[in-house]
Amino acid sequence: MSVIDLRSDTVTQPTPGMREAMLAAELGDDVYGEDPTVNRLEASLAARLGFAAGLFVPTGTMSNLLGLMAHCERGDEYLVGQQAHTYKYEGGGAAVLGSIQPQPLEMEADGSLDLARVEAAIKADDFHFARTRLLALENTMQGKVLPQAYLAAARELTRRHGLALHLDGARLFNAAVMLGVEAIEITRHFDSVSVCLSKGLGAPVGSVLCGSAELIGKARRLRKMVGGGMRQAGVLAAAGLYALEHQVARLAEDHANAERLATGLGELGYAVEPVQTNMVYVQLDQQADALKAFCAERHIRLIAAPRLRLVTHLDFAAADVPRVLEAFAAFRRP
Ligand SMILES: *Cc1c(COP(=O)(O)O)cnc(C)c1O
Repeated sequence: MSVIDLRSDTVTQPTPGMREAMLAAELGDDVYGEDPTVNRLEASLAARLGFAAGLFVPTGTMSNLLGLMAHCERGDEYLVGQQAHTYKYEGGGAAVLGSIQPQPLEMEADGSLDLARVEAAIKADDFHFARTRLLALENTMQGKVLPQAYLAAARELTRRHGLALHLDGARLFNAAVMLGVEAIEITRHFDSVSVCLSKGLGAPVGSVLCGSAELIGKARRLRKMVGGGMRQAGVLAAAGLYALEHQVARLAEDHANAERLATGLGELGYAVEPVQTNMVYVQLDQQADALKAFCAERHIRLIAAPRLRLVTHLDFAAADVPRVLEAFAAFRRP
């Protein structure tokens, strides 16, 4: 029986077409700027998102870190959501490595930060305070898509206060596909954007940070400093280029499969949150460990969490939905 893995959209295998593209990639030493495939990935994604320059990095964590460090000096501060990846799930890197103070803020149910709360948190120009330099948003945020009008309002607010605006767009293309817009309609509001190629897009490794030529110049220096300068990285960039060309529109299938799972689980009596993209959240209370073990016996891999997250992806097919629903149904049966 094949394994169904719903823990994350990072668990995908490169598709045959992607492997072929990796094998055929033209390579050079990227630290010398001589890898034509890396250069093509950086330039093409930056252009697609409306930026002057891009930087290929191994992970989304590094991409966000370099973005924050390129915008902020030591002792500056950034405003960020309590549940945001940059704040909660990146080892405190901005503080540890960048000496950037995070000012975390409570988040709204839709994944946004209330802009009145943001404005109230911006510190006055006073030597007692850290200098508030940047607002970081995340889209999608736990599978939720930030409203376009909200992004415009956040841009207006940050412009008025002289703050930079950074997007952790690990799943930017899920948001764009859900809205039915080109990704640039989202990214045009931001000064910098980090995009993961290794999530729903299905590449094995890699993220790209996009911004102005000046910002990316700084980030390139910082990338070397943190050990992220790679050599014949075009073998990885080729996977990213392939994903961006062939595996964006299909994210709609992941969203449809998440919807199917949510509908089925709802019918079984599970407490399911509304689905927007490729994540289904189920409120389980105390049964999380038992459900994980029960599903593992049926070759279905889950994380154990009271608020269980199921993530659909390239290697999860519509035909897998019934098997998951049967397992969840059997788990509930007395
Ligand atoms: C996964 C993720 C990252 C970090 O990416 P890694 O490649 O795992 O370091 C950043 N932000 C969000 C929202 C993510 O989901």
